[in-house]
Amino acid sequence: MGVKENLLSIQDRIRKACEKSGREPEAINVVAVTKYVSLDRTIEALHAGIRHIGENRVEGGVEKREAIPDRGTWHFIGSLQSKKVKRMIHLFDYLHSLDRLSLAKEIQKRHEEGKIVKCFVQVNVSGEESKSGISPEETISFVEKLRDFPAIEVTGLMTMAPAVDDPEKVRPYFRKLRELKEEVEKRNYPHAPCRELSMGMSGDFEVAVEEGATFVRIGSALVGES
Ligand SMILES: *Cc1c(COP(=O)(O)O)cnc(C)c1O
Repeated sequence: MGVKENLLSIQDRIRKACEKSGREPEAINVVAVTKYVSLDRTIEALHAGIRHIGENRVEGGVEKREAIPDRGTWHFIGSLQSKKVKRMIHLFDYLHSLDRLSLAKEIQKRHEEGKIVKCFVQVNVSGEESKSGISPEETISFVEKLRDFPAIEVTGLMTMAPAVDDPEKVRPYFRKLRELKEEVEKRNYPHAPCRELSMGMSGDFEVAVEEGATFVRIGSALVGES
């Protein structure tokens, strides 16, 4: 399937999820996760009307970003090693996986003078050991500590739900992330406006939209897997 057809179908499903939950479809940004696919397919996605591109490896992102320097908003969604922070910052517009203070420290050290790095704090809502992220209990105090890093803006919270056959099973995790986000938001920290929720992938984005996602990260259902 072409990206355009996939995108139309995904937008239709997002619209239905919005109707069900009383939300505006314009509030949801589709990030095309291109980690599995070629540069050509990534360009096809941009031509199909995609504005947001997500990559989970700095290396994979470099090639594409350098070939497409002036289009799209670029999201780094994978776990990030401290030694790659400098390259990440120069290539990407958003980081979805801020999960430790040592990473914040590195971002503060490497950021370009005068530039703010937009970050999502990754929360491990399900508590699965294989997943990275801050525990829900520690999220508020982690966000508070990020005040010491003026180069960082806490744009929102991000989570990855467990892989399950029935997306209804992950609804409580998405709901929990939304509650945490609202808790941060109402504290009005200048460094943490925290208005966005990055959650939902190919298998569960409708449920994520119903629970308040503003960025859904879709790979296989949108651009395919190879
Ligand atoms: C791969 C990946 C996605 C997209 O996964 P699909 O199931 O293919 O949509 C979303 N978020 C993260 C963090 C990923 O690594």
